[in-house]
Amino acid sequence: MKNLFRLLVISLFVLCITFGLSIPLVASQELELVFIDVGQGDSALIVTPEGKAILIDAGETGQVSAVFKALNSRGIEHIDVIVASHPHMDHIDGLIDILEAYGVGKIIEPGKAVSSDSYPAFILEAQKRGIPIELAKAGSSLEVGSVKMDVLSPAGSLPDDVDDCSIVIKLSYGSFSALFPGDIGSVVENVLLSENELTQVSILKVSHHGSITSSSEAFLNRVMPKYSVISVGNDNGYGHPSAFVLMRLSVIGSIVLRTDLNGDIIFRTDGRTIGVTVSKGSIPVVQKVLAPSSKYVASKNSDVFHYSTCSSVKTIKPGNLIVFTSREEAVKSGRRPCSICKP
Ligand SMILES: [Zn+2]
Ligand SMILES: [Zn+2]
Repeated sequence: MKNLFRLLVISLFVLCITFGLSIPLVASQELELVFIDVGQGDSALIVTPEGKAILIDAGETGQVSAVFKALNSRGIEHIDVIVASHPHMDHIDGLIDILEAYGVGKIIEPGKAVSSDSYPAFILEAQKRGIPIELAKAGSSLEVGSVKMDVLSPAGSLPDDVDDCSIVIKLSYGSFSALFPGDIGSVVENVLLSENELTQVSILKVSHHGSITSSSEAFLNRVMPKYSVISVGNDNGYGHPSAFVLMRLSVIGSIVLRTDLNGDIIFRTDGRTIGVTVSKGSIPVVQKVLAPSSKYVASKNSDVFHYSTCSSVKTIKPGNLIVFTSREEAVKSGRRPCSICKP
């Protein structure tokens, strides 16, 4: 029997050489990072060069089939680590379906106990299946295969704001890095900046679906991502992504990819170079915009323009916000300067 097996292997080898087929002798050295299009929500899958799987969030139940597809098409049956960034529906709802269908090594979550959304059901499902749950703590790190994950936030007692409780993770593989800040707002961004926790990264998962309350200029200037990914639903009611955030990203020259325009966004890296493919649309060519041009804004419904820092700008609905590339352009639109901020 043993000899027969040996003969078979040798014959196969000879066949392959004869017909020029290649035999994969070593596993791929590439890390794959997939931002899954789950509409208005977040879900990112990381497959390490060793074939280990990490899943950060899984969107809402109604969109979870996209996560199933991403896992199944890669033959993944076991997820080594699930990161539940924070207990909001658009991040953890689909994770319940995932727990029901796949083997899971462990869960990392911030430990913000909320009675709403899917949080209680998610924790119950994990406990029922005996999946270990670890609370994320800033300063801790985790190695999954050759990929390192550093937890940068939350630290100490959790803030009242659920978004600000988001786990912030920096993933590194060779000189490649990606930052996943969940839905944190500028308050936490400032804490991370003041603690000097942030460095330049290859990829930024833009916080909170491109909300105006996150991705401050100071934050983006520190992380300076080559690529920025906005996970966002078509025509969502929140006005995500904000025109201000898009402008700030173009000021730093980052290549912006969006799940609403690009579908699934797939990065592959050997730890040095990065390749990217998208399931729809095209990869934009960066046109770096000069910083001062983001200074003048107006509402679609008003004949006044403002400095972007004017207090009245906060009352403009994101969907109505117009950003001018210069003061001249604002004047040309037929608008007069605001009497408060006097632009
Ligand atoms: Zn949230
Ligand atoms: Zn969210």
